[in-house]
Amino acid sequence: ADRLKGKLALVTAAAAGMGRAAALAFAREGAQVIATDINAGLLKEIEGKDGIRTTVLDMLDEKAVNAFAEKTGAVNILFNCAGWVHQGSLLDCTLADWDRSFNLNVRSMFVMTKAMLPRMIDKGGGVILNMASVLGTEKAAPNRLAYAASKAAVAGFTRALAIDHVKQGIRVNCVCPGTVDTPSLGDRINAFADPAQARKDFIARQPMGRLATAEEIAETFVYLVSEESSFMTGQAVFVDGGMSL
Ligand code: NAD
Repeated sequence: ADRLKGKLALVTAAAAGMGRAAALAFAREGAQVIATDINAGLLKEIEGKDGIRTTVLDMLDEKAVNAFAEKTGAVNILFNCAGWVHQGSLLDCTLADWDRSFNLNVRSMFVMTKAMLPRMIDKGGGVILNMASVLGTEKAAPNRLAYAASKAAVAGFTRALAIDHVKQGIRVNCVCPGTVDTPSLGDRINAFADPAQARKDFIARQPMGRLATAEEIAETFVYLVSEESSFMTGQAVFVDGGMSL
């Protein structure tokens, strides 16, 4: 329970789903965790747990992100987890949907990383983890046009960042989960006319015949931000129950 002892970790979109699971797992492993999210009410539920500190932060608000980075200073671990799934083909995707996908899934990562990276380099290095998806990086699924495009961009951003800063003690990887049972997946399921059938369809696309829990994916996050993965950088790591096979 001390794989991240002495580390300061920042997790975005940490009030629910995999971000929350990451914050809890990092804290369990001894990290000091700053959990940020736009949802103050949900953040309260994890405030103080294993020493987790929380801050309301909208990842679409670059001024707020920069001010937050200024106030926080260097961290050892940055997990850019914020993201949004637009459901639809190109025909259903408005320019606003496309922009929101890229702004939350990619631009927010650029803004936060740009604010944090120089501070991490000054401190002699650190670890960055980005949230991608099996969709876009390895596989297509129907009605995920903007989402897949934005997550493919995350994988490219990850590799490019990794090679540029490999000699400065910075490691950067991204995680590509399959279908994970989180609150927003529940919302997407409930948006279908027949939610019970929609859940079955989501399960059917997972070769293991079940959805992942956020907690089991978080064990991979711990590995990727700990010294156990010290020789890994620039990788897209699939934790997808066989979805990409
Ligand atoms: P979720 O979508 O259920 O929760 C996301 C959290 O993000 C919420 O707490 C929400 O308040 C917060 N959030 C939303 N907008 C925000 C903003 N502007 N600023 C800050 N926080 C904001 O959790 P999830 O499903 O685990 O998704 C987390 C990440 O994982 C996303 O990047 C998503 O694309 C990715 N992902 C999810 C799945 C899946 O099946 N659930 C699979 C692969 C990748």
